[in-house]
Formats: sequence, C-alpha cells, structure tokens
Amino acid sequence: MSSPAQAGCAPPHVRDVIRPEVLALSAYHVPDSHGMVKLDAMENPYALPDRLREELGRLLASAPINRYPDPGAVQLKARLRETLDLPPGVDVLLGNGSDELIQILTIAVARPGAVVMSPEPSFVMYRLLAQALGVRHVGVPLRADFSLDGPALLDAIAAHRPALLWLAYPNNPTGNLFDRGCMARAIEASPGVVVVDEAYHAFAGDSFLEEAIRRPNVLVMRTLSKIGLAGLRLGLLIGPAAWLGELDKVRLPYNVNVLTQLAADAILAHGDVLEAQAGLLRAAREDLARALRQVEGVEVFPSAANFLLMRVRRAPRVFEALKRRGVLVKNLSAAHPLLVDCLRVTVSTPQENAVFLEALRAALSE
Ligand SMILES: *Cc1c(COP(=O)(O)O)cnc(C)c1O
Repeated sequence: MSSPAQAGCAPPHVRDVIRPEVLALSAYHVPDSHGMVKLDAMENPYALPDRLREELGRLLASAPINRYPDPGAVQLKARLRETLDLPPGVDVLLGNGSDELIQILTIAVARPGAVVMSPEPSFVMYRLLAQALGVRHVGVPLRADFSLDGPALLDAIAAHRPALLWLAYPNNPTGNLFDRGCMARAIEASPGVVVVDEAYHAFAGDSFLEEAIRRPNVLVMRTLSKIGLAGLRLGLLIGPAAWLGELDKVRLPYNVNVLTQLAADAILAHGDVLEAQAGLLRAAREDLARALRQVEGVEVFPSAANFLLMRVRRAPRVFEALKRRGVLVKNLSAAHPLLVDCLRVTVSTPQENAVFLEALRAALSE
C-alpha cells in the first residue's frame, strides 16, 4: 500500500477543496437551552391533547419504517389541498421544513449571474443559502421603522433583475406586516418569482394566498413549525403547478419522512386544536405587548407574529442577565445595523410570559 505522499501527491488541504463561499460561512448557531425558559425560536409552548397523542402513538407504532416513504406524499398533500381549499392548477410542494424549500428554490434559479433578493433585516436563511450555493444575494435595507422602502426596492429590482425575491409576511425578526400595496408593486415589477414567506400566517390575520392562486409569478410558503410541530419538519410551497413541477425536480425524492407524513396528516385532521392554540398565543401577544409598554426603558414594535421585537438600552447585557435568570431570548444587537439593542422574545404561555417579564424587570434594574 502506498500513501498519497509516497505516490507523489500531498494530502489535500480542506481549504483547497471546499469552495471559498462555504469557507466564508459560519454554521447556523443554536444555543444550548437546557433547563431554560426557551423563548428564542418561536416554538408553540402547548402540547397536543392526550387523546390526539394516543392516536398518534397507535398510528406511528404501525408505520412501515422499513419502507421508503411515499415520495409524492399523496395522502398528506390531499389533506393540505383540502385544508387550504386549493383550486385545480394550483399545487403544493413539501419540504423538510420550509428551510429546505428555500434551498430548493435557490438551487433551481442558480444560473450564472442570477440574483436572489430580500429586504434586510429579514430571515437569515435567504442570504445564507444563496451564499452556500454561490448565488449572489442582494439585500435591500428596510426603513428604520422596519417598513419596506418601496422606491429603494423598485430601484433594486430594476437594477439587479432578481430571479427570486423573498418577502416574509409578517417579517422575521421584526414581526411587522409590510404594506400590501408596496408588495403588490414589487410583485408587478419583478422579472422573476416572488415568494411570500408566511411562516407566521396563523398569527397574522392576512395572507397572499389569493395572489399565489391568481398571479403567475407568486408563490406562498408556509410551515407547521411555528404552530406547534417544529419537530416534525414540514414546510409547504403553494402556487402555480407550472412552477412547482420544475422545483419538484430538484427536491430529494424522500425528503419528507414517513413519520412526518403520517403525523402531520393525522394532526391536520384536527386542525381546530392548532388553531385554538394559535388563538391563545395571539391573545397572549397583545397582553405581553401591553405589559412591556409599561416597562420603563423598553420600546416594543408592532407584531403580527408569535414573537415581539423590542429595543432596550445595552441589549447584550440585558440578554446575558436574562440568561442568568434562566430565560433564553434572541439577541439581535449584532445581526443588522437597524437592530442595534434589539431583543426578540417568543410569545408563550401566560405563566412563561410572566416569568420573562419578571426576569426582564430585574435585568433592566441591574
Ligand atoms: C422559522 C422560519 C422559517 C423556517 O421554518 P421551518 O419550516 O422550521 O424550516 C422560514 N421563514 C421564516 C420567516 C421563519 O421565521
């Protein structure tokens, strides 16, 4: 046996093999939340009712996990079509979380010179996946109040002709709904596909689903993660069959596993359960926002999602002080210049929201 060195070939260095765009990335960091009140990731704090959990137990116990899942997820898709009341010609594409759908869309448009665009600050995966795939990403800054800068967005669309434009509605991490007229003008001006990311649809009371059904270049993306099923990993893209048929070619055939397909179908058959929990969280959001506005030194921004963005003095210190008190939120201070001194907190149960408020008051008076 000869080693590569003996064969006259030095062992490869990681840096010489991995693409520079990948070397330049930092891995998506998920902090340790063990034993903490976890308010950093927009998870639903409520469990499913016992009756439904027992039903799932029986269903999953007999799942054929020795077989590959249905690559077309036919039964689950039929359930979703019915739930969403989709007309013929409009289709659904499923992803292993909507993160995977972002990846699929980026892969599909990644011809040389293609541009992916999103307002910023917004969901970091739009930029991260473009960078990982070697696609140019252009960020268009929001205004200081986190509204869309319409003229700047239209200028950027005209200058860069994005193949893919992301508009999160409501936006993460800011929580607000962009102006509909402004979004409509961006859609009108777009030479490519516009994806309205409705990850927080259950908390928003508004949607672009009608546009995805009516307009040729609009897709709506949703996820089950924020309404209580983050662990299942299921995202959906809704829009004209002509788009989804092409995107489906770059989807890995078994991307949605058999347990997720069965569980999601069974839980969606009881959609009222998740809707009731979302209702509790919408009410809790208003209560928490009201309480936060009473706290000296806290600026709360309007939210149509299951989280609140707020600005405090010396947010990084407040974040650490909250952590010492067992409460984990998201520190966005360094994420974008518009987010200096901003923290994002997930709306939870009245009990956890009270623990957070108490810890915040204590942290601010340290
Ligand atoms: C959480 C989130 C996602 C990703 O959700 P998954 O389905 O869990 O991958 C996508 N977009 C936005 C705006 C989000 O906040």
